[in-house]
Amino acid sequence: MSASPTRTLVCCVCGQPTRGRQHWNRDAGYGVCAEHGQQTADREGEAVALSYYGERGIHWDVEGSTFSREQKLTLIFRHTHRDYKSGKGADRAILIFRNGTSLVPLDALTDEEIAKELPYALSKEVERKTKAKTLS
Ligand SMILES: [Zn+2]
Repeated sequence: MSASPTRTLVCCVCGQPTRGRQHWNRDAGYGVCAEHGQQTADREGEAVALSYYGERGIHWDVEGSTFSREQKLTLIFRHTHRDYKSGKGADRAILIFRNGTSLVPLDALTDEEIAKELPYALSKEVERKTKAKTLS
């Protein structure tokens, strides 16, 4: 079971991306981030967290489960339509509405802009992975 690769999931509490493995008790594409799994464990006990989210270290709170700013930017860039982005690597930029549409380097995105762009990218990412899994 632990051999299957981790995937991007949506934390069912905060809606942020997290790495983990699908647990049968969660909707497809949903899991829990380390912080909110821990919160459930603290409030209701490890056994309850286990029944909700699966095993810690297997389904949630796996190594590298927390998304860095860079990982979030990569996710946003990947799911931005090709007409609204340009560049590669350090030169990546996307069109953002800042009193008019401007091409903004990924590194220059504010936390607010990342928070605004992320849900769409995350839903596309999870949709893509869920589809790929159904087809294989
Ligand atoms: Zn969370």
